[in-house]
Amino acid sequence: MITIPKDLDTKEKKIPLRGMMENVMEQFNSASDHINLHPNIRKILSITNNEIIVHFPVKMDNGDVAIFTGYRVQHNNALGPYKGGLRYHPTVDIDAARALAMWMTWKTSLAGLPYGGGKGGIQLDPTKYSAGELERITRRFTFALADNIGPEHDIPAPDVNTNSQTMAWMADTYMSTRPPAERSANQHVVTGKPAGSGGLEGRDRATGFGVFLTIKFWAERNNEVLKGKTFTVQGFGNVGYWAAYFLELEGAKLVAVQDAFGSIQNKNGIEVAALFKYAQAHKGSIVAYPDALPLDKDDFFSTACDICIPAALGNQITIENAPFIKAKLIAEGANGPTNVEGEQILIKNGVTIIPDILCNSGGVIGSYFEWLQNRNGELWQLDEVMMKIEKKMKESFDKVNKYAEEHHLDMRTAAYCIAIQRIERAYVERGIFP
Ligand code: NAD
Repeated sequence: MITIPKDLDTKEKKIPLRGMMENVMEQFNSASDHINLHPNIRKILSITNNEIIVHFPVKMDNGDVAIFTGYRVQHNNALGPYKGGLRYHPTVDIDAARALAMWMTWKTSLAGLPYGGGKGGIQLDPTKYSAGELERITRRFTFALADNIGPEHDIPAPDVNTNSQTMAWMADTYMSTRPPAERSANQHVVTGKPAGSGGLEGRDRATGFGVFLTIKFWAERNNEVLKGKTFTVQGFGNVGYWAAYFLELEGAKLVAVQDAFGSIQNKNGIEVAALFKYAQAHKGSIVAYPDALPLDKDDFFSTACDICIPAALGNQITIENAPFIKAKLIAEGANGPTNVEGEQILIKNGVTIIPDILCNSGGVIGSYFEWLQNRNGELWQLDEVMMKIEKKMKESFDKVNKYAEEHHLDMRTAAYCIAIQRIERAYVERGIFP
């Protein structure tokens, strides 16, 4: 065991930050103050370990060559290999990748997984490219990342606008560029693969299922029933759809949805399966769904409901719309959907927030199971996977609530305190090389 001198306070030396990074740092600093985090560990966790930016050429369908910029930020690996998604979106930049990588470090730590945190992606609008172009972009990005990722080093997964197909292309490219004898041993370089290609049964629904579970646990804790509760979902992709699917199974009613293309509402309820089928037939868009009315974009968050699930992008609930939110529970399916000012208003108004690093951790828990399955050469059954996810989510949920109650904290600060303390312990026990 080492003793680290308490000589420096990085709060004084904080670099000016903007956007999501500013949020994650404020959240981190507030929890670190609460646990009196060792100043040297605060310094280490305030910065990212590695930041990889790659520019790479890809041949387009028309024969032209386009240059793309891809990012992979590896925040911290004190507890294990870097783990986190890859996002294809115009808002992807180094600032977003840094913030999202940090959130992954807290999330994997809170979930008690042997992982650190990483995140990345490509700055692009995928709707502008054909399937063939997206495949070549993905494969060339994987090739450009080269040994900066790896099954025991940094393990990407799907995020916004990437899916199991993207992960299948990545795994195939990575494995194809290894020496023949090593190829099949590298399948777990990514998680979120299709079930037929080393993927885990149930990984597709793991995040949304986890979001639903945290809502169910919250209801049980507060002697509430989900049957008859109304809810809204921002983002009807992987996370939003599956969260809505499981809530509807419990008898809750979806009353408004917003996606990248528009917003819809129906006080009498929107049937989740029918909306999903409609979106699939309309390039992922919910706009003009026949059994609902259009809703103004700015009115989405003020829709009357019991539960609101932001499951799209970061910085969606802010000082602008937080005062008008009627839901009493916000379940953060997305990463960083509520900014610090928005959160302060919600807390003042008595709204409970199940924080992202807890609420959407079912995804990375599912990814961990996929990684274990590949590593051990096993194939797990769906019911077994769902049971294991529920057990882990319950442990995390109870841990956060206990800490929040004992220390009179909101759930986010409590979740951060638990996550950071686990990493702090690893540093204190191991010391700093050399
Ligand atoms: P996805 O690509 O499957 O779906 C994204 C959805 O958000 C789409 O419906 C899209 O139309 C909508 N959207 C995009 N921009 C929007 C905007 N400006 N306003 C409203 N809606 C918008 O992505 P996903 O995998 O469901 O991820 C959603 C969120 O959940 C992200 O914040 C992601 O980081 C987080 N998350 C995902 C996973 C996972 O396993 N996929 C795990 C943990 C957290």
